[in-house]
Amino acid sequence: MLKLIDVGKKYKRNKDQYFYAVNSITYEFSETGFYFLYGKSGSGKSTLANLIASFEKPDEGHILYKNIEINKLNQINLNYYRQKIVGMVFQHYNLIEDLTVLENVILPRKIIQDKQSNAVADAKKILDELNIRKLENKVCKNLSGGEKQRVAIARCLINHPKIIICDEPTGALDEKNSIQVIKLLKELSKKHLIIVISHNYDLIKIYADNILYLSDGKLKEKHNLHYNNSLKKFNFKNIRIRFFNFIKLSIKNLLSNKIKNILIFLSTSFCIFSSLIVLGFVNGSNDFLNKETYARFDYSFSSISKIDEIHIDNSFLKLNKMERLSHSELANLISPYPFISFGINYNKLLENSSVYIDNYKLDSYSLSFVYNFDCVNNELIIAGEMSASDGVYINESLDKKLQEKLNIKTSLGRYINIKLFNEFKFDLYDNGEQISDNFVFEKLYFIKGIVREFNFLTTPKIYLCYQDFDSNIKNISALNLSKYYSKNYTWFDYIYNSSGNEEQTSFSHYIFLNDLSKIKDFDTFVDSINSSDDIEISCDGYWLKNTFEDIVYAIKIGVFIFMILMMIGMVLIIGISSFSTFAFKKKQNAIFISLGMNIEQLFSIYILENFFTLLISLIFGFILSFIFQPIINKLIFNIFQLTDLINIPFLSVFDIPLFLPFIIVFFSFFITYFSTYLPIYFSKNINISKELKDE
Ligand code: ADP
Ligand code: MG
Repeated sequence: MLKLIDVGKKYKRNKDQYFYAVNSITYEFSETGFYFLYGKSGSGKSTLANLIASFEKPDEGHILYKNIEINKLNQINLNYYRQKIVGMVFQHYNLIEDLTVLENVILPRKIIQDKQSNAVADAKKILDELNIRKLENKVCKNLSGGEKQRVAIARCLINHPKIIICDEPTGALDEKNSIQVIKLLKELSKKHLIIVISHNYDLIKIYADNILYLSDGKLKEKHNLHYNNSLKKFNFKNIRIRFFNFIKLSIKNLLSNKIKNILIFLSTSFCIFSSLIVLGFVNGSNDFLNKETYARFDYSFSSISKIDEIHIDNSFLKLNKMERLSHSELANLISPYPFISFGINYNKLLENSSVYIDNYKLDSYSLSFVYNFDCVNNELIIAGEMSASDGVYINESLDKKLQEKLNIKTSLGRYINIKLFNEFKFDLYDNGEQISDNFVFEKLYFIKGIVREFNFLTTPKIYLCYQDFDSNIKNISALNLSKYYSKNYTWFDYIYNSSGNEEQTSFSHYIFLNDLSKIKDFDTFVDSINSSDDIEISCDGYWLKNTFEDIVYAIKIGVFIFMILMMIGMVLIIGISSFSTFAFKKKQNAIFISLGMNIEQLFSIYILENFFTLLISLIFGFILSFIFQPIINKLIFNIFQLTDLINIPFLSVFDIPLFLPFIIVFFSFFITYFSTYLPIYFSKNINISKELKDE
């Protein structure tokens, strides 16, 4: 039934010298019987056993089982051979020590996907026959050597193999146990082919039907056999894998690989947490850009100028000469945009200002115009109310300063006296005589509201209503100029009638957004003007938005790189730790493979373990980000005054419900799958005989 024809196996002795551990063995075993293979240590017994068990491939010759050449089987049929035809019993048992006796014994049945109940019933019968039924629920590592050896034999028997090879089965046992085991094997040899390797000649020769003596890899007794080519084949189909077949083992592994799983748990949940926060930032910063920075447009006047490039001879340098557009040019430019108003730039009149609040003279501040307080973004008001034109609005920075200086709780409602004074000289007469006129303005306002600002823009600021200021200026006459022109001549007339390149025009007009709903159109308008060469609009809101956009863009790139690195890190951590546990569990894996387990089943054990860890990490990562989002936002708000910068789109992205959680779960499972599979794939060519070798 089992034939060896000219079987040879070479090993390297040293660098380029080989020797035969098994040398040209030809022999035929009968279907049943007790064969005793003995010889000195190193004579090749174990090598021969491994060849028959298919754990090694011969370099020469043929090993035939029922005319099937086992060293030429494909993986599926090789597994079948290991599952059903041959079983091996080792000196050191090679049980899965963490499992119970019963779990060990039914393992080969689980590998062939038999029903649990069938397997358990059969296992109990065999345990009964071997007189170890009482041990069935004991964990193997707590058994004695003799007990373990009988469990190993029971596991070997569960799939009713035709051939049982025992390599030094009594090597670790005392005499009493040895005799029991040998008697048991003798009994089994009535129905199985039993090949026992031992150097205990005196014990075994009594029981042996045939004694084979091996010396230097050569068999003394030789049969005359010839290889013919009329070989048969197993036609065994691959077994369907049930993913949860080895769940108990996965859980046992999970618990025994604590450090690895804690490492994976920590890194993965951190990874998921930070990915969510990062995606929350990407999402939140977009919202923020749309909501917050756009809202600044109405709080900041823009100025528009003509730009003349002046080339300097023999130089790379260019000068930009600014000039105010003529009124008709400007009117033409903005006529298609009814949401834009323009006005005279009064910066010149604002020079030399002084501001008093309750007799306290402000030392550093800037005066800024808002077109009309009735059409600005209320969301930016953090105290007070928005209406009418008689008040002023100040920013938080000024409010804080006033609270400190005046020792008050809020500056809201306080009177604020704004005084402007400027002396102008005009060359109106041909004889060089000059006229001078004093611009004087004084008005008592009160603080109606406080405006939220980015904390990094810390200049104290006062917002005046442009329309109100404008109508005031239109009523203030320049006295000497009026005399000269013999009519009422206001400061408005003075600046309005100046030519574009005169200093008092500040070389520009103000333009304002007058309709809040048109913020984006205004932005587009500013963009289009600024992309042309000859006209330029400068505007705090626009500058702020662009700067913020640039910052967000830079951060997004950083974040993207961070995410990629994190993913690589996750792959590496899961991969390396899977690899290391896989290496650590090499012996266990070799036992599985020797019992005919295929690589997919082996994989399912490890992937389940990692999936389980991942699941916990996912839940933890999500909870963590859920808890930390408001905390981080609060922190950012306290430092930068930016609201809801992190906004994790848990609920929907692109209007797809639960899109983000789904993607994260999908990706992390994919990464885990991938990084578990890879090391197993690369170590699938495990050297069984080496791993199972008795130490
Ligand atoms: P036995 O079981 O009879 O003691 P083995 O079959 O284990 O002998 O070994 C036979 C010879 O082959 C020994 O010299 C041993 O050192 C050598 N050998 C066995 N396995 C290997 C191997 N994987 N690589 C190199 N040499 C080996
Ligand atoms: Mg040996």
